[in-house]
Amino acid sequence: MMQHMTQAVEFVRDHWTHAIEIALLAVVLYYGYLYFRGTPGAKILVGLALIFISLTLASQLLDLHVIGWLLRSFSVFLAVALVVIFQPELRRALTELGSQHFFRSALQKKESIDQLVETVFDLARRQFGALIALERDISIRQFASTGVDLDAVFSKELVLTIFHPKTVLHDGGVIVQNDRIAAASCIFPLTSREDLDRSLGLRHRAGIGITEESDAIAILVSEETGHVSLCHRGIIERNLNAEKFRRRLNQLLLLERYEADSPS
Ligand code: ATP
Ligand code: MG
Repeated sequence: MMQHMTQAVEFVRDHWTHAIEIALLAVVLYYGYLYFRGTPGAKILVGLALIFISLTLASQLLDLHVIGWLLRSFSVFLAVALVVIFQPELRRALTELGSQHFFRSALQKKESIDQLVETVFDLARRQFGALIALERDISIRQFASTGVDLDAVFSKELVLTIFHPKTVLHDGGVIVQNDRIAAASCIFPLTSREDLDRSLGLRHRAGIGITEESDAIAILVSEETGHVSLCHRGIIERNLNAEKFRRRLNQLLLLERYEADSPS
């Protein structure tokens, strides 16, 4: 018993630095993955990594000396190539780290979600028909050009004003990019699905349509019923209460995006 204990203590003493090393690497790789996922360079990176790993395995298992030698000599070039390919992303990451934006952003997102939930349910209470698209990785700028450019700070008051039925801007959808209202009165593509409920009119079809063409999230408030719906990747979840709506936004915007793809 004592011997086992001392062995365990010795093991921990000899290897605790490895544990720290593994944990640090895991954190760096995980955040690197979260950061680069969805960027144009990500597919290239995955492709290169797959080629590199399979060639390395093959050369070691089958003792292919020439390929092994080539891989070792090319890995330096590969490192340089990666820096060049990821130059825009690396630059963005370093700038964000420098401005401490990186550490604040989760908190900021939480506040933005709270503000959004409040705004949407205020629209619903007043039965103002509304359509808001939140842009994510895939640009929906082309649809902003069908409306009126605003580039304004997001506020509940501004959104309520835009969707007030007597304003010039109330028709069409609002596009939100990085917490700013980029444009209002935008025309979104209508979904051509035929299996939809007949009660869903053009506004709801436009909300579904924009999420079929991009990874945006569309939020809808029905003028007829005051019901709130949320669309993502062409799927509409209708008549959400504030709690459910907030939970879905948290899942989609804060947590892992691809895990959150299935509505719950
Ligand atoms: P509601 O439940 O609010 O009535 P709905 O899904 O029944 O919504 P309609 O009654 O057809 O839809 O709503 C018409 C409104 O939808 C228009 O006034 C306009 O603001 C908006 N809309 C229609 N087509 C588009 C489009 N392509 N892009 C953005 N908004 C659109
Ligand atoms: Mg209608």
